[in-house]
Amino acid sequence: MAVNEEKYNEIINELRPKNVQLVAVSKLQSIDDIKRLYALGQRDFGENYVQELLEKQPRLPADTHWHFIGHLQSNKVKYIAPFVHLIQGVDSLKLLQEINKQAKKINKIIKCLLQVHIAQEDTKFGLDENELKEIMDIVKSDPEKLANVHIDGLMGMASFSDDSNKVRNEMKALTTLFEKFTSQTTANCQFSTLSMGMSGDYKIAIEEGSNMVRIGSLLFGARPK
Ligand SMILES: *Cc1c(COP(=O)(O)O)cnc(C)c1O
Repeated sequence: MAVNEEKYNEIINELRPKNVQLVAVSKLQSIDDIKRLYALGQRDFGENYVQELLEKQPRLPADTHWHFIGHLQSNKVKYIAPFVHLIQGVDSLKLLQEINKQAKKINKIIKCLLQVHIAQEDTKFGLDENELKEIMDIVKSDPEKLANVHIDGLMGMASFSDDSNKVRNEMKALTTLFEKFTSQTTANCQFSTLSMGMSGDYKIAIEEGSNMVRIGSLLFGARPK
């Protein structure tokens, strides 16, 4: 596979005036291709698998920002804690507490996004609205207990669907939740990041208020099997 430099430049030029951040989703892509994007100026990369991320991280420059965007098992947090830039898929209190514990051990504050389930498909991970509220209540009520995490905002994935109205409505629901919590600031929580939109739906996502898109196949071509 080869990096599509033209597409990369096009997307960067599209996002920049709107202050939308690009996370290049590099799961299953080669080190060489990641380095090619790095050479073009890209610093934020998204990975889904801990083992793969651990193999890649030492092979890229230290100023690479690694976003963990997959489903993270609590027992693997300790491996990525020392270098991870943003953990986007936090979908349980248990996971958040484990991230806090591992961050505390190494005297670091780890930035997190809470993942909300917005797609009608039930294959996607994430919190429903009530679970989100419960976690937010705990985060806010005793910031000392979760002092080594910082909740930066929300992440979500819409349905894989050609029905753009459906996708748009799911995204609107996430934006509404995001706005609801934006004013609720504590020492360990201040919403600034709304991560939604992938190769197939990032334009809709930006129209609906996203300020971070996670794009893989448009930049790298189809993922190898
Ligand atoms: C794989 C993945 C992406 C990127 O998907 P593309 O369709 O290749 O852009 C974005 N977000 C998450 C959570 C992913 O797992």
